[in-house]
Amino acid sequence: MRYLDEFSDPDLAGKLVDQIHAVTTQPWAMMEVCGGQTHSIIRHGIDQLLPEGVEMIHGPGCPVCVTPLEIIDKALAIAEQPGVIFCSFGDMLRVPGSGKDLFSIKSAGGDVRVVYSPLDALTLARENPDKQVVFFGIGFETTAPANAMTVYQAKRLGIENFSLLVSHVLVPPAVAAIMESPTCRVQAFLAAGHVCSVMGTAEYPPLAERYGVPIVVTGFEPLDILEGIRRTVIQLEEGRHELENAYPRAVVAEGNPAAMAMLRDVFEVTDRTWRGIGMIPESGWRLSERYARFDAEERFSVTDIHTDESALCRSGEVLQGLIKPHECAAFGKECTPRNPLGATMVSSEGACAAYFTYRRLELVES
Ligand code: SF4
Repeated sequence: MRYLDEFSDPDLAGKLVDQIHAVTTQPWAMMEVCGGQTHSIIRHGIDQLLPEGVEMIHGPGCPVCVTPLEIIDKALAIAEQPGVIFCSFGDMLRVPGSGKDLFSIKSAGGDVRVVYSPLDALTLARENPDKQVVFFGIGFETTAPANAMTVYQAKRLGIENFSLLVSHVLVPPAVAAIMESPTCRVQAFLAAGHVCSVMGTAEYPPLAERYGVPIVVTGFEPLDILEGIRRTVIQLEEGRHELENAYPRAVVAEGNPAAMAMLRDVFEVTDRTWRGIGMIPESGWRLSERYARFDAEERFSVTDIHTDESALCRSGEVLQGLIKPHECAAFGKECTPRNPLGATMVSSEGACAAYFTYRRLELVES
């Protein structure tokens, strides 16, 4: 705990806040890419400590939030099938599909299990050779290496009753899509430190150059976030747009070569649909040809399921930074963490859940 407490030190935080105020001469809007950063910003009230006009836009980097409704419906269709053990991390069980969620399938007798690692699902497959075991593989570059390793092991060990429902997405194409949106207000990015700890930083200087935006790799504790904001504001004020690494205790430029090699072996880049944003070309991974037989979509014939997003939920606008969560009419009323209408209220990393949990409900009542 001491290690974490050091990065929440209130005196140091106050000094960083003072430095941000001292260097700021005009309004700026920057996006924190990751939901973990959003959670930290709202939990600690960091956005309320910034100079007036310095705005944090909450980006799309929450893996549960950006998983499209269509994939949830595919997961539900697979989990309902007899003889299937459907495995997932716990936060996906309450994400609503078009009609139900994985919890309701479990309560109706489906074999839906929460696991803490994809390798746990592989163990279940070995222990239940008469069942089909499926793991729900969602998320960014952070969760993908473990899923890739699991499929690699399934192939190596000849475990054919295991498959992966893949919905992996990539951060750099999303940054490009946000910058190319005609409604974009983002002038800088706090990049996600854990993504860069896997993938390194090489993909970001070309984005900073192409779009003229500072990109500062940032961690998740309050001092990490404040230091990322401080460096970003300095770049903006000086008219620079460079990549900076403000999270060197976890991120090196070359990333994790072993994880990247595993990813290149098991996955290949594909177009992906992001919840609320739509299709972004070459923004995700699918299983490569060598591992295609472990693809759950093909194995359970759910590739033809296509679902439109709910018209009621404005999470797409939240994920693009066009509105704050409390500006959605359903926030805190029809939509709460107990009864979520959209994925950004389900996940603890979702911007709507963060606003609801950390006191922003008064924004609705005022
Ligand atoms: S408050 Fe609920 S309905 Fe509104 S955008 Fe967030 S998740 Fe969707």
